Amino acid sequence: MERIAQGIERTYAILLKTLGTQGWWPLSWRRGEPGFDDLGYHPEISGIELSERDRFEISLGAILTQNTSWLNVELALSRLLEKGITTSKKLLSFQLDSLKEAIKPCGYYNQKAKKLVIACAYFEASGILRNNRAPRRSELLDLWGIGPETADSILLYAFGAPVFVIDAYTKRLFSRLGILEGETAYHDLQDAFLSRLPLDARLFNEYHALIVKFCKAYCSAKPSCGECPLKRRCRAHISAVKA
Ligand code: SF4
Repeated sequence: MERIAQGIERTYAILLKTLGTQGWWPLSWRRGEPGFDDLGYHPEISGIELSERDRFEISLGAILTQNTSWLNVELALSRLLEKGITTSKKLLSFQLDSLKEAIKPCGYYNQKAKKLVIACAYFEASGILRNNRAPRRSELLDLWGIGPETADSILLYAFGAPVFVIDAYTKRLFSRLGILEGETAYHDLQDAFLSRLPLDARLFNEYHALIVKFCKAYCSAKPSCGECPLKRRCRAHISAVKA
């Protein structure tokens, strides 16, 4: 147990030292504003105050990124922005065929358009984006097409709720490091982080963003272990060197 706790804490320190703050979640419509880079990341600004439009974009992105790369999401969000889709209400009044066309780069566009419409109908009816009222997790999970990762991304990044997002990158990295053993279910893995870190939304935001960035930079499907700052602590790498 102590080993796992130290592994989770130490890994965060190394990722942060290697990569610096990430400035998540990116807000494409604010790119170029002071403190925002040209993709909408804001690494210099910690804890920005989010508007309804920000929460809308984050929620949309969390759904659109299912089973696709963020590059495709950026393209789809730009296309929606060009059409003036900046609120749930506007999305709901948009032609379904035009919505599908706009989000086509993200794949599964028939399903994803349906997910967006269902989610936006809920956002409008509940007023959660407008009123900055974090929903219960179960409310999000009851929506068709929203699973634990998407629900937790919306809760953490759109509402600042202290939940740890688990994704494929997290599973890959921590199992390669040997910090977590075997096939671990979503909630068990989430509990491992929640029970060993302070309950702090900013920390969870940064840690998850760092894991994603780190895996893209080093620990991809074919890892680049030679330059990896975690290699001396990585069970997969140490086993490969010994073999
Ligand atoms: S040493 Fe290799 S396998 Fe281990 S964390 Fe780094 S990149 Fe991933």
